[in-house]
Amino acid sequence: MTAMVPGYRLIDADVFRRRIAQAREILTECVLCPRACRVNRCAGEPGACGAGAALEVAHWQVHYGEEPPLSDNGGAGAVFFSHCNLHCVYCQNHQISQQPGIQHPISTAELSRIMISLQEQGAQNIDLVSPSHFLPQILSALFEARQQGLRLPIVYNTNGYESEPALALLDGLVDIYLPDFKYGNDADALRYSQAPDYVAAASRALRQMHAQVGDFVEDEQGRACRGLLVRHLVLPQGHAASKTVLDILKKNVGTGIGLSVMSQYAPCYRASRYPELNRPLTPREYDECTEYVQALGFTRCWIQELESNNVYFPDFSGKDVFKDNR
Ligand code: SF4
Repeated sequence: MTAMVPGYRLIDADVFRRRIAQAREILTECVLCPRACRVNRCAGEPGACGAGAALEVAHWQVHYGEEPPLSDNGGAGAVFFSHCNLHCVYCQNHQISQQPGIQHPISTAELSRIMISLQEQGAQNIDLVSPSHFLPQILSALFEARQQGLRLPIVYNTNGYESEPALALLDGLVDIYLPDFKYGNDADALRYSQAPDYVAAASRALRQMHAQVGDFVEDEQGRACRGLLVRHLVLPQGHAASKTVLDILKKNVGTGIGLSVMSQYAPCYRASRYPELNRPLTPREYDECTEYVQALGFTRCWIQELESNNVYFPDFSGKDVFKDNR
């Protein structure tokens, strides 16, 4: 198979420029995610995600901790954006998603240079982590990076709480969508992530992503080159409604997608305030979910060891963010 050319290298420059302009327009009355705050981010008004006018990045590095097709052949070129439009009480990235202190304002030119630098370090993709609220700036940076010779596939690593207008702007520019699908019922989504109408919004977003990039595709070396790879974090006492999540996935996007079922839940950040979440997952809780994955016929799956809940927590306050990176 010939190597796939990333979509953003093929799209017409005028179409690309129009997308950037449309995205900037959205920022003046922000509906970049289903919260639809309608604040004027260009004037510096922050929305519920905490982001205002400035593009803010917390960290970037070649990262070996993503699923094997994303990071086993050179590592993922990960860029971690500050802030988040979900407010998960158990967020393992809470230092950068919900707390002040680790936000570095940068220009789009600097972001494009980071992308090029990750490529020069041998990364196999550009892995945009929690990018949704900075979509306009990311499109500008990607346009600049294309002109500077960027040729890596783009991974849109999102919590899945995405709006239709935002995803429409990404059509043809993103190669691999890597969304979470967190909850199968709205009550848990509201209680633990303060996300109204989560199930319908995330289901719509998944269908839109799948329509753009299709099923999950790897090359001969096992590198992800295109498609939809969905992550699901199993929560204690069935609070993610995992079986419903899997049913919705099968019904909406089929079993040809990639599926990563994560066992790494541990009660960090504010989870201890919720007694039902204040413990790690049990083997039985995780096995019930993975057995259901097999029963539904998903074939391209990644299952974690249960002890993963001890090793995956990053610390963004120090230099060695991922202690066991590689
Ligand atoms: S991206 Fe932020 S400001 Fe925009 S709608 Fe979502 S939460 Fe509100």
